[in-house]
Amino acid sequence: MTEKVKVRFAPSPTGLLHVGNIRTALVNWLFCRKMGGSFLLRIDDTDVGRSTEAFAQAIERDLTWLGLTWDATARQSDRIGRYDEVVEKLKADGRLYPCYETGQELDLKRKIQLGQGKPPVYDRAGLALSDTEIASFEAEGRKPHWRFKLALPARVEWDDLVKGHQSFDLAALSDPVLVREDGSYLYTLPSVVDDIDFAITHIIRGEDHAANSAVQTQVFEALGASAPQYAHFSLLTGAGGEGLSKRLGTASIQSYRDEDGLEAMSINSLLARLGSSDPIEPMTSLAPLVDGFDFAKYSRSTAKFDPHDLEILNAKILHHSDFSAVSDRLENVDDKLWNICRSNINKLSDINELQLIVKGPLEPIIGNKSFTDQAAELLPDAPWDETSWKNWTAAVKDTTGAKGRALFMPLRQAITGMDHGPEMGLLLPLIDPEIVRARLRGKTA
Ligand code: GLU
Repeated sequence: MTEKVKVRFAPSPTGLLHVGNIRTALVNWLFCRKMGGSFLLRIDDTDVGRSTEAFAQAIERDLTWLGLTWDATARQSDRIGRYDEVVEKLKADGRLYPCYETGQELDLKRKIQLGQGKPPVYDRAGLALSDTEIASFEAEGRKPHWRFKLALPARVEWDDLVKGHQSFDLAALSDPVLVREDGSYLYTLPSVVDDIDFAITHIIRGEDHAANSAVQTQVFEALGASAPQYAHFSLLTGAGGEGLSKRLGTASIQSYRDEDGLEAMSINSLLARLGSSDPIEPMTSLAPLVDGFDFAKYSRSTAKFDPHDLEILNAKILHHSDFSAVSDRLENVDDKLWNICRSNINKLSDINELQLIVKGPLEPIIGNKSFTDQAAELLPDAPWDETSWKNWTAAVKDTTGAKGRALFMPLRQAITGMDHGPEMGLLLPLIDPEIVRARLRGKTA
């Protein structure tokens, strides 16, 4: 029997989710849903100084908005006791050793190594400390930080689901610090302990974590486990190839939603397929993205993210959206008006201006008052239907001699207050004839 897929998305609640995070979340989610697996939302909040409850809640809100449902939640801050237990085991096994260097002392060591043309790898001085030396550091009031002793020489290899065969020489890396002087945890150990305890089968994250994976593989092994399958996808860059965080600064998912008013599916449509061989298409639901998901489609080179693409997708998605998909976010708009207007909007909020055409009040644009006055006289009797516009404009043409743009534009401007917009023939029957008459006469109605 194959093992049930279990993935995790593990953001730190130290800021708002951005495009890079959501790409990670999406790839995990699409794979998981395709495999009928289970998705864990893990809040990596061991950094007490920078993590906040507000950011943790914002993460849940953003994922919910995007439709990226999760099956369970875990918070690392609830699991410190468990990490402490593991630390005792690693100490007892000789895999975790105390180091007393200050930050300054470590800097100095690195400078000397670099000066000698050597790689700045930690020299393992902590391992060589005698009990007396340790006692004297403690007597000075120094607290140790704790390093994981990498098993050397070691080459860590794995078959990455995106990057193919990977091979890392750990000799080029320092023994990683797992526990800080104040007893708090860096990311490396809690992540591995959680991945073991929650039976994670696939670790899917950006390639900036590839070196972490090499180190963490040894931590898994030190804890009697083996590493899950890894998938490291390439990073996103800005449209000009520059690092994303620099370019986008504060562009969070929250701001795309609350400030730019974008549809969740425009973000999903772009991020699910960016850097993959599938075309980026406006999707109105996640289902086709799940069906087509395959790690093999993702490129190993970086993918360019351009926020302008979100806007284009957003408009196309709205043009294809049924009223039922948007009705709970609209006021004063019914399905008739939606169907007439949807192809004229780029963002959902654009409909607010268009619905004024029907409900008013709006200020008409009147260029030639006698022309629109004449047109008002010629309005057909109510009720109007989809032939009314055609019949009316034919009558106006006959009476005034105006044709083409000179006929249609002044009528559109008077009735809608705009010089472009939805088809007038469809719009006219939705507007109260008294309102149309008033606007043709130049009144705000
Ligand atoms: N909290 C880590 C991060 O946000 C998690 C990385 C991982 O997926 O293991 O980078």
